[in-house]
Amino acid sequence: MAQIVDCRVDARSALTVREAYLSARLQQIETDRRRSEPLPQDFEDQATEQENDPVLDNLATTTAAELADVRLALQRLDSDQYGVCSECGAAISAERLRAVPEAVTCIDCALAHA
Ligand SMILES: [Zn+2]
Repeated sequence: MAQIVDCRVDARSALTVREAYLSARLQQIETDRRRSEPLPQDFEDQATEQENDPVLDNLATTTAAELADVRLALQRLDSDQYGVCSECGAAISAERLRAVPEAVTCIDCALAHA
């Protein structure tokens, strides 16, 4: 029992650090993205100026997805569902949670989707 509690305390601090890192990173990506865009001449042109750098777009998408996972894991910690697979309901192993604190599925379910 004590081990599970320790694991959750560790997970919360790891996830909190990760959330701060990812949201700062996302903000930086958005700033870079705006900088790389030419200023539209007028509102009519804005629609055609939406061709963003695909690399930054991709980075923004994956960072936002990762951030969403981290926030979901934090919510699950609060609602006491942390460490329980969202798909099959099995306990997620402590090793997996240490490696991937934001994991919401057990290794079997994760591999089934890989
Ligand atoms: Zn599972």
